[in-house]
Amino acid sequence: MPRFSRRTIVISPHLDDAVFSCGAMLAASPGAVVCTVFTGAPRAALVTDWDTQCGFANAHQAMRARRAEDVAALEILGARAAHLGFLDSQYAQGRTNTAREIAAAIRNVIRECTCDTLFIPLGLFHSDHHLTHAAAREASLSDTSIACIAYEDCLYRRMNGLVQMRLAELANSDIEATPLPDPIDAEALACRATKQRAVQCYASQLKAFGPHGYDDVLSPERFWRLRTTDRNG
Ligand SMILES: [Zn+2]
Repeated sequence: MPRFSRRTIVISPHLDDAVFSCGAMLAASPGAVVCTVFTGAPRAALVTDWDTQCGFANAHQAMRARRAEDVAALEILGARAAHLGFLDSQYAQGRTNTAREIAAAIRNVIRECTCDTLFIPLGLFHSDHHLTHAAAREASLSDTSIACIAYEDCLYRRMNGLVQMRLAELANSDIEATPLPDPIDAEALACRATKQRAVQCYASQLKAFGPHGYDDVLSPERFWRLRTTDRNG
């Protein structure tokens, strides 16, 4: 299992994505920070279909419970939580924040943690994942002191062609993506077991995905090192 330092930050769109997609890596890298972008609650106590499926009465109850789920999951993994407080698209009601605004907030966390390795989502399918990818990519690739590693967004990576489309877009943007090795050893298996316990903390989200709706989180995690081609000389 690749091991990373305490100066590692994983950027997560929602409260669950980092653990679903990188939980075993986090278990192998104690002290890392999981920085989640969409953790805010709207002013009004909105009722959305997704929150209802998760068993919540309204958005306020949902976000309070989901932040607590996240803290509990990260405690199991030995990671620290940073919540940026932007509004999830289900609450934004057309007033979505820009990638530039989110990138500025991510840069602040990078500075505070003296980050040397930033994990970002490939940014698949969901508009919040696209936005997080764009913001985190803007914040990291312009800083040559930071290694930028993309993780495949669990669940969405199984959708036809989505990983391929992102890799093609990266190539067209002069960014090379090289897969990291995924060692299969005793430590990796132990980290996967720890991840499974952490995943169970997101009980509200698992309820909405249904019994087999999140099987992909138990498959191997996959990572791509991103580098702008002009950085290679
Ligand atoms: Zn998500």
